Amino acid sequence: MAYDKNNIFAKILRDEAPCFKVYEDDMTLAFMDVMPQAEGHTLVIPKSEAENLFDLDADYAAAMARTTKKVAAAVKKAFDAPGIMIAQLNGAPAGQTVFHIHTHIIPRAEGIDLKLHARQMADMDILKQHAERVIAALD
Ligand code: 5GP
Repeated sequence: MAYDKNNIFAKILRDEAPCFKVYEDDMTLAFMDVMPQAEGHTLVIPKSEAENLFDLDADYAAAMARTTKKVAAAVKKAFDAPGIMIAQLNGAPAGQTVFHIHTHIIPRAEGIDLKLHARQMADMDILKQHAERVIAALD
């Protein structure tokens, strides 16, 4: 499947759609997931037109890994999370729903189940506060 330039993350990268940004550099952008599976659920995307890991240039893959590590540390601190799950889905059969590659950073704690994937919109005021917490926790 060819990369769809009108996917929602491509629009976010072009500032045609809003997001609660937590971190940005030359090669990557990190922002809050609008339908979080747990408080603090954050996404990292490359500034590269790649649908999945197999399309992604190795330099962008490395940049994504660096940003994921940096932002995951901030999410862990901001939400006092005992565990952090990193997920990256490739292809609809794997559960991918937005076809611009991204990593999920999801706080986990024992006894707290994940909410369903991409199902329920967050309250935007709360999501904004969560983004501010992550930003404040970035090194
Ligand atoms: P995937 O299923 O492709 O691995 O994950 C896509 C993620 O993007 C889901 O967790 C979903 O909640 C999130 N998402 C979908 N649309 C938007 C949007 O417009 N803005 C943001 N910030 N996240 C989105």
